[in-house]
Amino acid sequence: MPDNHPDFDGTPAGHRWVQSLGELRKELLKGARQHQGKGVWFILPHGALVAMSSREDMRRVLRIARRESPTSDKGWEAWVREVQTFAKHLEVEGWTQTPDSSEGFQKCEVLFTEVYSDEQDEPLCSRCKKAPVADKGKFKEDLCVACAIELGNEEIHQKQLQRQKENAESTARSTPKPKPKKHL
Ligand SMILES: [Zn+2]
Repeated sequence: MPDNHPDFDGTPAGHRWVQSLGELRKELLKGARQHQGKGVWFILPHGALVAMSSREDMRRVLRIARRESPTSDKGWEAWVREVQTFAKHLEVEGWTQTPDSSEGFQKCEVLFTEVYSDEQDEPLCSRCKKAPVADKGKFKEDLCVACAIELGNEEIHQKQLQRQKENAESTARSTPKPKPKKHL
């Protein structure tokens, strides 16, 4: 078993975390509730700091950081994976991440700000981007009521145009054309 990270060894016992990430999640949520504003923090054996606090608007913020930034691409890749692992096991994948992993990191610090579940569950209309989706998954696009009606009307109109076009074509076809003369 490898030695613990010096940042872990140098941390007071009450802030060292050696249990599972599932247990850590419970402890973070409890700490954020009990010590609002100040929050709670722990250092894990491999040296990552994990902290959670509640903002004034009661949204919780999870902070994951390391004292020292990696010096190689490989090191940064490991950091991105580490952030993803924490996000998954601490169940903050729907929260707002800053900076986003795709933007790249300047230092080993990332914040996850709570997004309430009712905000996550209300996707917006893919057309107007304003109103909530009426029947999610029912149509090709997820639309609000107004846009669904509008799209329905457009489709009816398109079908009418198509039918008019087909009628015009079949009329043209039924008109007898003079037969070409045979060259025999
Ligand atoms: Zn809409």
